[in-house]
Amino acid sequence: MATIFEKIINREIPAEIIYEDEVCISIKDIQAQAPFHALIIPKKLISRIAEAKDTDSQILGHLLLIAKKIAIEKNLDEGFRIVINNGPNGGESVPHLHLHLLGGRKLTWPPG
Ligand code: 5GP
Repeated sequence: MATIFEKIINREIPAEIIYEDEVCISIKDIQAQAPFHALIIPKKLISRIAEAKDTDSQILGHLLLIAKKIAIEKNLDEGFRIVINNGPNGGESVPHLHLHLLGGRKLTWPPG
């Protein structure tokens, strides 16, 4: 069964798209945890970072560079955070790899 992110990539359900190229899509998170909260999602279905293969290294690097590019474009000059949740204890709720890009407020540490 397709994940919610595959349905967004395939335009079967709507999302606020921030960026898209042949490798990934970036959308606004529907439940923003910060004034700016985007997801960067590879078009290839990699279920989670724990399932990524050595051959996915270019995709993984691309996701980070796009996250950085969006952070700069969105003027997150004061700082931002990139998060990957993995597995039940990591807080993963959608089994399709995605980076969270959060900014626009002072983020606390450690996370909950
Ligand atoms: P996770 O908890 O797996 O790290 O992150 C999944 C994220 O996807 C959550 O922050 C959640 O708010 C977001 N999300 C879930 N369903 C949708 C949706 O249909 N549209 C958008 N834009 N975000 C979603």
